[in-house]
Amino acid sequence: MSQNTKILSGADTAAEIRAEVAADVERLASHGVTPKLVVVLVGDDPASKVYVGSKARASAKVGMVSETIELAADVTQEALEATVDRLNADPEVDGILIQLPLPLQIDAAAILDRVDPLKDVDGFHPSNVGLLLQGRPRLVPCTPAGIMELLRRSGVPLEGRRAVVVGRSDIVGKPMAALLLHQHATVTICHSRTADLASETRRAEILVAAAGRRALIGPEHVAEGAVVVDVGIHRVTDRAEVEQLYPGDEKRIATFERRGAVITGDVDFARVEPKAGRITPVPGGVGPLTIAMLMSNTARAARLRREV
Ligand code: NAP
Repeated sequence: MSQNTKILSGADTAAEIRAEVAADVERLASHGVTPKLVVVLVGDDPASKVYVGSKARASAKVGMVSETIELAADVTQEALEATVDRLNADPEVDGILIQLPLPLQIDAAAILDRVDPLKDVDGFHPSNVGLLLQGRPRLVPCTPAGIMELLRRSGVPLEGRRAVVVGRSDIVGKPMAALLLHQHATVTICHSRTADLASETRRAEILVAAAGRRALIGPEHVAEGAVVVDVGIHRVTDRAEVEQLYPGDEKRIATFERRGAVITGDVDFARVEPKAGRITPVPGGVGPLTIAMLMSNTARAARLRREV
């Protein structure tokens, strides 16, 4: 298999999805609707600011309106709830995204539960989670939804295949497992108390790594020919670590020299790639899909709520 077909490019699939969303936004415009996404950013976490910036740029590119509401890190529960209530009531707002993490004084679950489920473009509201579990998806969490699009568009068969998801978060692991199950994969979910991770993951024909642990998945975790999807995002700022992770990879070292860091995933890419049948890179894999699906969810939310 050539390098190009082996690498599952999330960036290419994301570009396809964005083009489809842009066409959808144009159709909505002919009905007098311009979807609007509002992102609520609390505090000044630099990583969150970067993510929020990319979401705003992506919205503009597909022809949607976006707004970011910035609140101080010491915002009270009441003030944040009042913001959510105002956005819920605003007929021009189609999508509401509460950027996580929220500061410790905030009851995050109470805030997420308060978002109008029809504007819940992250798909975190219990009613959207319930619908997903019942196989009646409405608004689905962006990262697993993007991975499903990648697998579908890349022609990866799921029916009857053994899929293993490493991680059981509400944001990635659990909805990922539900989506794979609905496509008739036989699904195993692993987590930090899994007794023998490698013996579970080695049975996977499709392996999704979403543990938030750098290079957790090595060749000993992967069956020959498996499809490997790497959800992890980690910044490596130590040159020796970059050299250890990517031996002889001049391009990565050059990136490190330029930026002082490289982004890596939960999969030890250099050692797993030769064994994998297909594999997502980091960066350029799952990350771009997440934002593309946020755009897709916002257009969908506009259509659902405005009944266009
Ligand atoms: P999370 O909430 O921290 O959940 C991590 C999960 O992995 C937990 O269920 C945990 O188990 C499990 N885990 C941790 N260490 C493990 C180990 N050694 N073996 C097996 N399982 C282990 O993280 P998340 O929000 O799901 O995110 C996971 C990763 O994806 C992070 O690196 C995050 O930055 C990245 N991410 C990327 C995108 C994207 O767009 N590419 C989007 C979202 C997240 P327990 O439940 O037992 O603690």
